Amino acid sequence: MAHIVEDARRTATGPLVLHGLSVEGVNQCVHCGLCLASCPTFAELGTEMDSPRGRIFLIKALAEGRTALTDTTVQHLSLCLDCRACETVCPAGVPYGRLIEAAKAEIEHARPGSPARRLFRWLNFGLLLGRPWALRLAATALRLYQVSGLQALVRRSRLVRLLPGTLPAWEALLPSLPPRHERAPLPSYVMAEGARRARVALLTGCVQSVVFGAHNRATARVLAKNGCDVIVPEGQGCCGALNAHGGDHARALEMSRRTIETFEAARADAVIVNTSGCGAHMKGYGALLDGDPAWAERARRFAASVQDLSEFLAKAPLVPPLSPVALRVTYHDPCHVVHGQKIRKEPRQLLAQIPGLSVVDLVESDWCCGSAGIYNLTQPEMAGRLLERKIRHVLETGAEAVVTANPGCILQIQAGLRARGAEVQVLHLVELLDRAYGRPAERGP
Ligand code: SF4
Ligand code: SF4
Repeated sequence: MAHIVEDARRTATGPLVLHGLSVEGVNQCVHCGLCLASCPTFAELGTEMDSPRGRIFLIKALAEGRTALTDTTVQHLSLCLDCRACETVCPAGVPYGRLIEAAKAEIEHARPGSPARRLFRWLNFGLLLGRPWALRLAATALRLYQVSGLQALVRRSRLVRLLPGTLPAWEALLPSLPPRHERAPLPSYVMAEGARRARVALLTGCVQSVVFGAHNRATARVLAKNGCDVIVPEGQGCCGALNAHGGDHARALEMSRRTIETFEAARADAVIVNTSGCGAHMKGYGALLDGDPAWAERARRFAASVQDLSEFLAKAPLVPPLSPVALRVTYHDPCHVVHGQKIRKEPRQLLAQIPGLSVVDLVESDWCCGSAGIYNLTQPEMAGRLLERKIRHVLETGAEAVVTANPGCILQIQAGLRARGAEVQVLHLVELLDRAYGRPAERGP
């Protein structure tokens, strides 16, 4: 409480800030309520404080020192998915994503929790996401845990229920780690095929590179087929998106500077990203580093070069030949593609170019599946409700596969389908494109 009042005093005549981040955008809200119908937590709970308008009110009151971070306030703000569906419909252009990230950073600063929680956060945000070697080591250990049969034993014996805190939820969502060759780094250069269109740099990501290395390989192949020289900058790490969404602002800044530096050296025409949260976050580097004179201009220039894979590929017709893929699919829009980057038609345009593919519409396709970074681990109850809603709609389509473009959504929807015993595959968009270019499926559902 004391530091909140202190913050408020410091900013009484200046711009509104939380944890040093501007929340001036709260003043753009005209309280029209048009965002309420698009907010998943409001739809589930029906309470004003679990709506965008209610949360903006809370953030403003916190920044002005009119309210404190009580358990109730923290709960309403923490329940926000940061899905940014409210931004898409807001007529006043409220930059809601930036507001909630500032609020979450303030919560982490003011209420860091028990030493065990702080250690757990450091292990994840500091060690695993901050150091690629640590993530690779953890992936090897997890792979051993899974292939040795220990995971099956733990699950059968229900020992996992005895784990403290959110660890049982973490265990339940552990992705199936691929073999070593799929986790190996990509070559640093993949040459364009045919007429050369561009020189692009590829973000291979942190979790993405160890869990979905096959998607990165497919991305490089599809880009090369479409006339791109693909540079995979060595030494790249996490872009900081998970840290920023989790309120770990200081490390998010550090990671953004390192990412900019690494990719600048590639001198590429565009930086291509195949994971939605990373793409949306990297496009926001300009705003993130705005207050740092040494980095602001570099960050703006870098952010302007970032493109989602579908956004880049949809700028021109896909280079033929594409073989038929006989599959009935439906498309789930990852929040940080459709709301964070306003990319809605491009993935559908690409799917429409694959011969033999049948695409059926998904009700509430742009509604969060409950994954939302690590939300499904920190807020398992609400995440479960939203996943149930998503799976219901997926099964209504009768599709054989759900196509999407984000590792978190893939894992979450896979878990939901598994729990229902449904035989529906979950694929990244680039896997389908890669198949159409003649590459067989690398992994099953
Ligand atoms: S739609 Fe925008 S202006 Fe209207 S209440 Fe929601 S955030 Fe405020
Ligand atoms: S980001 Fe999503 S969950 Fe949060 S207030 Fe906006 S619509 Fe609701």
